[in-house]
Amino acid sequence: MSIRLAERVRSLPPYLFAAIDKMKQEALARGVDVIDLSIGDPDVPTPRHIVAAMKRAVGRPSNHRYPSYEGMLSFRSAVAAWYRKRFRVSLDPRSEVLSLIGSKEGIGHIPLAFVNPGEVVLVPSPGYPVYPVGTLFAGGESYLMPLLEGNRFLPDFSAVPKGVLKRAKLLFINYPNNPTSAVAGRDFFKEVINIAERYNVIVCHDAAYSEIYYDGRRPLSFMQVEGAKEVGIEFHSLSKTYNMTGWRIGFAVGNRDVIAGLGKIKTNLDSGVFQAIQEASITALQTDEATLSKIRDTYQERRDSLYEGLRKLGLHAIKPQATFYLWTKVPQGFTSSAFAAHMLEKAGVLGTPGNGFGKPGEGYVRFALTVPVKRIREAVERMGKVL
Ligand SMILES: *Cc1c(COP(=O)(O)O)cnc(C)c1O
Repeated sequence: MSIRLAERVRSLPPYLFAAIDKMKQEALARGVDVIDLSIGDPDVPTPRHIVAAMKRAVGRPSNHRYPSYEGMLSFRSAVAAWYRKRFRVSLDPRSEVLSLIGSKEGIGHIPLAFVNPGEVVLVPSPGYPVYPVGTLFAGGESYLMPLLEGNRFLPDFSAVPKGVLKRAKLLFINYPNNPTSAVAGRDFFKEVINIAERYNVIVCHDAAYSEIYYDGRRPLSFMQVEGAKEVGIEFHSLSKTYNMTGWRIGFAVGNRDVIAGLGKIKTNLDSGVFQAIQEASITALQTDEATLSKIRDTYQERRDSLYEGLRKLGLHAIKPQATFYLWTKVPQGFTSSAFAAHMLEKAGVLGTPGNGFGKPGEGYVRFALTVPVKRIREAVERMGKVL
């Protein structure tokens, strides 16, 4: 027999990091000490008090059964309490909060709930690949909105044709932004709400990095802006905030009809998050400020070291106010991929070529702050020798 993939899988965009992944494996096989600044996954373990809560929760037989798809009420209440404390936003835990098996799960699934074949989803580019892929799997059409440095990496809605806006069903935005590290202010969110109201577009704000911020400047929640709850939802994750990427838990909050629509997909596709993880996550959401400050201080020391280092090398890096990424212009004469390959070959330093996140990312490379500061210093030193 002949096994042929479905068209939706066959039409997936090419995996642009494949070449660089292969080069990394080859370098490692040659015994090169690769400093890998390409990984969007914290290197620091989950805080001990969260692990201890998990150990207790995993022993409870009541947690061994199927969880509810929408999440335990105690977990959803802890999310609502966290939102009240962190953002002064009030949420009804029963109808305005939904647990997710990592926010990627919800982001990937939401087009299935709202997008009909041929309808448009507005997607930022460069951006998290799950936005266009979830759209593709639902039969929707992605319209890519370039995020350019000249516009502080915010989409320019006036550049989107009226006809596209009229066919748009969903709009993805992501601040603090991966990969550009840009943050959005209240005015931008107000503009988003205006567009959403005028064209009847559901807003999906991905706020995975809202707690990885610097210099004490706390990013806004979309939900803090008047009218947001009428037009959309916000995705959050415990992955980056609490170093819990492997645990697979996140949540969506906001508009109850949108939450219910996403919930409808989930009841039919999955059976919720392991309850022990939800219980440990309640503990995570109640983490004291001192512990979170320590995590942020670690990233801030790394950020300062890498930012200063790159500047001294004459590279133009955007100084992040949030996220653990440095979006950095590649030097004249290089493409993103050529620069990444050059640095890996000559210096054993790996960054992520920006074009892998979308065409407008060409000309940039993304460095992640997910290695100790000593390694960052060494990476800068090695790059200095070959630039
Ligand atoms: C890491 C990340 C997420 C979170 O993923 P989880 O599935 O919650 O681990 C979501 N969006 C962006 C842009 C990310 O970089």
